[in-house]
Amino acid sequence: MQRCFIALGSNLEQPLLQVERAVRALKALPQSELKAVSRWYQSVAVGPEQPDYINGVAELYTSNSPLELLALLQGIENAQQRKRVQRWGPRTLDLDLLLYADRDIDEPALIVPHPRMFERNFVLYPLYDIAPTLVFANGVSLKQQLADIGMQGLSLVTP
Ligand code: ADP
Ligand code: MG
Repeated sequence: MQRCFIALGSNLEQPLLQVERAVRALKALPQSELKAVSRWYQSVAVGPEQPDYINGVAELYTSNSPLELLALLQGIENAQQRKRVQRWGPRTLDLDLLLYADRDIDEPALIVPHPRMFERNFVLYPLYDIAPTLVFANGVSLKQQLADIGMQGLSLVTP
């Protein structure tokens, strides 16, 4: 089984319910084991004007290949009525594969590590919740990476 991290995001149709439903779907994925889920954060959207997002990160162990896992994640997005209208536009559910073990993948359909994850506070803070000792394949620790990144636009969702 390979250790993976998946970013969850939603800003439409009751975002908190969307990400919680996505967690249940991750739990049900074949040949996989959901290990941990971060706290939920609220973030101001980047890109076009749109509602705030709910964001979190999940740790999943899987024996699916990276492309198989991507297809499974897109299946969950589609099951939650994800529509691709506008790049970086609002969505009911976005599932991004952040890390797949220490693999470096550069294919048309899949780039891992996710290229924008290192500067996104709404990815790094929830990732730190569940993997505080994580060291990236390039030797930089998540803790070091976070030191440069503030909490602008980001707040914790209080249950
Ligand atoms: P974004 O997440 O950048 O807002 P989408 O969710 O609409 O955009 O995804 C667009 C495409 O990005 C997908 O069809 C997928 O093939 C590709 N993609 C490339 N790398 C990744 C990754 N690490 N995780 C998820 N999708 C990825
Ligand atoms: Mg995506």
